[in-house]
Amino acid sequence: MALPASLLPSPTGPAEQAMLNAAYDRLAAEARLLPIKVTGFYGKKLAAELAVLGHTEGPLHRIAYPSRERLSQRAPGEVADFVDDRANMKTGSPAIVQKYADRVLFLATPLCAGHCQYCFRQDVLAEMQGEDPADLSETLEALVAHVRANPAITEVILSGGDPLTLSPAALGLVLDRLRGLAQLTSIRLHTRVAAFAPQFFAKGDKIRLLAEADVRLVHHLVHPYEVCDEVADMLRRLNAAGIRQYNQFPILRGVNDDAGLLARHIRRLDELRVRTISLFAPDPIHYSAAFRLTLDRLFALHDQLSAETPSWINAAALTFDSPLGKFRREHLVSRDRARGLALFRHRGRDIPYHDLPEALDLPGDPAVMLWRDGAPA
Ligand code: SF4
Repeated sequence: MALPASLLPSPTGPAEQAMLNAAYDRLAAEARLLPIKVTGFYGKKLAAELAVLGHTEGPLHRIAYPSRERLSQRAPGEVADFVDDRANMKTGSPAIVQKYADRVLFLATPLCAGHCQYCFRQDVLAEMQGEDPADLSETLEALVAHVRANPAITEVILSGGDPLTLSPAALGLVLDRLRGLAQLTSIRLHTRVAAFAPQFFAKGDKIRLLAEADVRLVHHLVHPYEVCDEVADMLRRLNAAGIRQYNQFPILRGVNDDAGLLARHIRRLDELRVRTISLFAPDPIHYSAAFRLTLDRLFALHDQLSAETPSWINAAALTFDSPLGKFRREHLVSRDRARGLALFRHRGRDIPYHDLPEALDLPGDPAVMLWRDGAPA
């Protein structure tokens, strides 16, 4: 039963947010979470959000800063490294992770332009950021040797840390070496630079490098307000350069957990020639409960998208990460609701999943999540 408005706590104001940030800084150091990191570009959007809402519970704040719930809510089954990157560091280097026979992940850098509170790789990235930086040439040569030794590998994925934070010279070095590997049919880059720092593309060097290497560029734009005019212009420039662009993003409680908002976001990106391929369930890592949704609500949002939107919107698959690789809602085989457990089966392997307790799943308010222009019709 919902509490009467008079009993609800008042929204977080800037003074309380400063205390939450300080508490989070201490926790991050102890629990290997990523420190708060906000770019000037994103900071201007945060200031605009705060000016209208008068509190720090808007969607972009939830992405950039710790909420009360982020610090206080815990759910069963949380672990530090849910995708188990460490078990899949096949060469011994934390920069090279292989879970599938045909794909290998390369963390060319542990750095990102900004940090996302919901990041599922924060345990590994926080550890890598705390160490002396690895020599890029050395890890790149280890990657090349690993790819050559494994002829089944046809794709290298450059992902978080954000490969587009590399200097043009370093990015060029990586892409040149990968282009020289005839067995590769795809070089994929995952990035949130578009959201955090579109000016990284201002000079055009990186756009040229991406176009020459014919990469697949996968953005992680999570909210319509991340796609402002400046970001849209940058996406158009990438498109004009002939770069294949995609988007994938997690459904995050209090950020974008509304079917109308999701449809609007995917529609806008499609207008900009960016195709959304996957909607992700947030991973149950430590201190992730504030972002997670129950399976029932994830499925309901996905069903609503399927029922009410054209196929180029609802074709985005609802996807889950796991220590054994990605799986989809179609792979659910059973649920034990009393114990909050679900079992998925994919590629012949059982994947147990701890659902979020229903009592924690308080949906985001569309009027807050779309504070600039009201909830979608
Ligand atoms: S940009 Fe990606 S890798 Fe970096 S903190 Fe955000 S979600 Fe994590």
